[in-house]
Amino acid sequence: MEKICVAVRLRPPASQESPGGTFWKVDENRVSLHKLHGTPISGVSYAFDHVFDEMCSNSRVYDLLTKDIIHAVVEGFNGTAFAYGQTSSGKTFTMNGSENDPGIIHRAVRDVFERIHMMSNREFLIRVSYMEIYNEEINDLLAVENQKLQIHESLERGIFVAGLREEIVSNAEHVLKLLESGEVNRHFGETNMNARSSRSHTIFRMVIESKEKDINASADVVRVSVLNLVDLAGSERIAKTGAGGVRLKEGKHINKSLMSLGNVINKLSDGAKNRGHIPYRDSKLTRILQPALGGNAKTSIICTIAPEEVHIEETKGTLQFASRAKRITNCAQVNEILTEAALLKRQKQEIEELRKKLQGSHAEVLEQQILKLRNDLLQNELEREKLETELEEERKSKLNKLGSLDTSSDIGGSSCQPEDSGRHSLKEEFNDSISKSGGNLFTTPSSKAVPNAFVAKRSNYSPLPGFSPLPDAFSNVVDEDTWMKMNKGYIADLDSIQMTPARKVQSFPPCDATPGSSNENHKQEVQDLKRQLELAIEERDDLKRKHEEQVRKHEEQVLLNNQLVSEISELQEEAQLIREIPQKLGECAATCKDIYVDVLSTTQSYICDEKSSVAKLLSSITDIGTSLFATLEADFSVPIADQKSQIQEQHKVLSERLSSAVKILVSSETLNIDGQARKSQECAMGGDAASWREKLSNELTTIKERHHYLVKDLDYHNQLLKKSKERYETLETEFQLLKEERDSLHKTVSESSERLLLVTSQKENIVRYMKEELQRRKDLEEKIKQFSVAFCNRKTSLVSFHNEFKSKLESLKAENVVSVPKTVGC
Ligand code: ADP
Ligand code: MG
Repeated sequence: MEKICVAVRLRPPASQESPGGTFWKVDENRVSLHKLHGTPISGVSYAFDHVFDEMCSNSRVYDLLTKDIIHAVVEGFNGTAFAYGQTSSGKTFTMNGSENDPGIIHRAVRDVFERIHMMSNREFLIRVSYMEIYNEEINDLLAVENQKLQIHESLERGIFVAGLREEIVSNAEHVLKLLESGEVNRHFGETNMNARSSRSHTIFRMVIESKEKDINASADVVRVSVLNLVDLAGSERIAKTGAGGVRLKEGKHINKSLMSLGNVINKLSDGAKNRGHIPYRDSKLTRILQPALGGNAKTSIICTIAPEEVHIEETKGTLQFASRAKRITNCAQVNEILTEAALLKRQKQEIEELRKKLQGSHAEVLEQQILKLRNDLLQNELEREKLETELEEERKSKLNKLGSLDTSSDIGGSSCQPEDSGRHSLKEEFNDSISKSGGNLFTTPSSKAVPNAFVAKRSNYSPLPGFSPLPDAFSNVVDEDTWMKMNKGYIADLDSIQMTPARKVQSFPPCDATPGSSNENHKQEVQDLKRQLELAIEERDDLKRKHEEQVRKHEEQVLLNNQLVSEISELQEEAQLIREIPQKLGECAATCKDIYVDVLSTTQSYICDEKSSVAKLLSSITDIGTSLFATLEADFSVPIADQKSQIQEQHKVLSERLSSAVKILVSSETLNIDGQARKSQECAMGGDAASWREKLSNELTTIKERHHYLVKDLDYHNQLLKKSKERYETLETEFQLLKEERDSLHKTVSESSERLLLVTSQKENIVRYMKEELQRRKDLEEKIKQFSVAFCNRKTSLVSFHNEFKSKLESLKAENVVSVPKTVGC
C-alpha cells in the first residue's frame, strides 16, 4: 500500500500589479497564506509531498513528481499523473509545457523510450491513444471521426474505450507528432479554444507491453502497464446563472466529471473501513481512471494554484481537495499476464520471426514496414472489437426489449422499468457464466503460478453487477456551496455500485512456439506471406471503399424514391380534385336547373291565357332549358376520359339552341306586345300588363346573365381540366424516367454485390491458401527436425562404429605386429 503523491504548484503572477492585502508563501513543502507585512494567517497553511514555487521549472516538477512513476510504468506498474486546478492556474503549462521548458507529457515520452533502450534484456511493444472528454462525451483526438465513444468492460481488457484509435509507436518523435496532430484535431472547427480547453479533460495514454527476450525464460509472461497523463478541466465554481444553453450544459458536465472525481477522492480518503462503495461509474472520467484511484496504480496529482488575491477562495478549495487526495492509498503491482490479452502475444508469428531476423541488422526501412504491419493488424483488431461491441449493444437492446415485453405482459402489472428487466436477464446470464466457470470468474483466464512473479488481474473491479445511478444533485448545475463542501470532504449519497455482467470473451488461439529456421526458402516464404497479407489488406480496403460507395448510392436512391413517392401522392391528390370537378359541375347544373324551372314556373303563373303565344314560348323555353341542364348534369356524370370533347360539343349545340330560343322569345315578345296589351284590356280580371312585361324582361335578363356565367364557368373548368391533364402527363413521364433510373441503380447494386461476393471468395481462397502454406511450412519444419534427429543418431552411431573400428584396428596391430596402411579406416 502506498499513498498517492500530491504536489502543489504556484504559478507566477499574471501581471506586475502591486499585491493586495495577502499573499501565498511557499516554504519547503508547505504553502500558507500571509498578510502583506508577513504575518501568517492562522488555519490557512497546508503541507504536501512537494510544493513548487513560481520559479520552479517543469523539469524540476517532472524529476520530483513524475519521473519515478514513469520508470515504474516501464517496469510493469500502472501509472497516472493528473493536473488539477482552476482555469489559468497552470495545468496545461505543467502537462504540455513551452518550447523552452517542455512539460510532463513530453518528458515522460522521451524518458520511456530512453529507459526501454537501457533494458536490452526485454522487448517492448508500445501503443498510444489520446482522447478528450467534453460534455461527458469521449472523442478520439487521433481520429476525428471517432466521436462519442463508449466505455466497455471485459475480463480480458478490463475497462476500455471501445473504438478508440491506438497507434503502435517505435520512438519518441513518432509519439510527439501524434500528440501534435491530436492538438490540431482538438482545435478543428473550434471558435473559442480557451473556453473548450477549460471545460474538457484530455487523457494521453500509453500502453506498454514487454516480455523477456530470452525464450527459455518464462516466455509466456507479458507485462502490460498503462500510463495516463491527464489535463483536467478547470475546477472553478460554476455559477447557477450561466449563459444558458450550451454553456450551462458544458458547465453541468464538467461539474459532473469533476464532482465525481471529488466524490471518489473524498470516499477513498475516508479510509478503507468507512469508504463503502466507490462511485467510479458516475462519470466517464472516474470510470476510465478507476485503476488510478484507489487501485492498482502509482498515482500523482499536481494541483496548480494562482497567486492573485482575487482567486483566494478557489485556491483554498484546490488546497482542500489536495489535502483530501493525500490520504488515498493505492496498491500498485506489476501486471504480469498469461492470457492472450497482450498484444505482443497476439501479433502474428511471421512478423515476430521477421523482426527477430532483422534484429541487429541495419534494415531500418524493413523495421518501418514491420511497424506499419503491426499497426495494420492492430487497426484490424480494433475494428473487429468495435463491431463486436456494436453487436453486443444490439444484443443487449434486444434483450431489453424482450425484457420489457415480458414486463408488459406481466398480469400483476409490475412497475419494473425495461432496463431493470433487461438487466435481470443479463444478470441471469452472468450468474450462469459464474456457475459455468466454477465461481472463479474474476481470476485471469488461463493464468498459472509463475515463480517469483505476481500474476495480476487487469483491474480490480468489484464483482457486483449493475450500475450506480447519479444522485439528483448531479443532474443540475452544482451550486457553489456543494462545490466548496466537496472540497472539504462532503460525500454525496450514492447508491451501491453494480457492475455490468460479464460478456463472453473471444480468446485467440495460442501461438505455437515454432523455432525460427534460417534457410533461404523459409525467408522467402515469410516474405511471400507478408506480401499476400498486404494484398489481402489492400483488397479488404478496396472492398470496404466499394461497399461504402454502394451504401451511398443506395441512400441516394432511397432519397430519390422518397421524392418520387411524395410527388406521386401530390399527383394523386390533384387527380382526385380533377375527378371531383365534373361532379361539382353536375351539382351546379342541377341547382341552375332548379332555379331556372322555378323562375319560369313563377313567370307562367302570371300568364292568364295558357294558350297564348307567350305561354307557349315560355313552356318551350322551359323545355329547352330543362333539357339543357339535364344534359349538362348527365354529361358531368359521364367518366372523365370521354367527357371533355362531348361537353364541348354539347355546350355548342345547347348554346345555339338556347340563343335561338331566346331570340324567338324576344321577337315574339315584341310582336305580341300590342296584342297582349289589347288582350289584357279585354281581360275580365284586368291587371297591370306593363308591370308584367317589366317583370318578364327582368327575368329574361337574369336568365341571360346566368347563362353567360354558366358558359364562362364551363370554359374555366375546361381550361383547368386541360392544365391538369398536361401536368398529369408530365408527372407520369417523370415517374417513368425515375423508375428507369431506379431499375438501373438496382442493376448496378446487384452487379456490385456479385463482384463483392467474387472478391470476398477470392480473399477467402487467399486466406485458405495462406493457412495451408503455414501448415505446410510447419510440416516442413517438423520433417527437418525429424531429419536432423535421425541425422544426429546416424552420426552418433557412425562415430561409435568408427571408434570401435579404430580400437579393433589398434588391437589387431598390437596382436599381429603387422604394418597396416595408414589410409585404411580413416
Ligand atoms: P490552465 O491550463 O490551468 O487553464 P494554463 O496552463 O493555460 O492554465 O496557464 C495560463 C497561463 O499562465 C498561460 O499563459 C501559461 O503560459 C502561464 N503559466 C502557467 N503556469 C506557469 C508557470 N509555472 N510559469 C510560467 N507561466 C505559467
Ligand atoms: Mg488548460
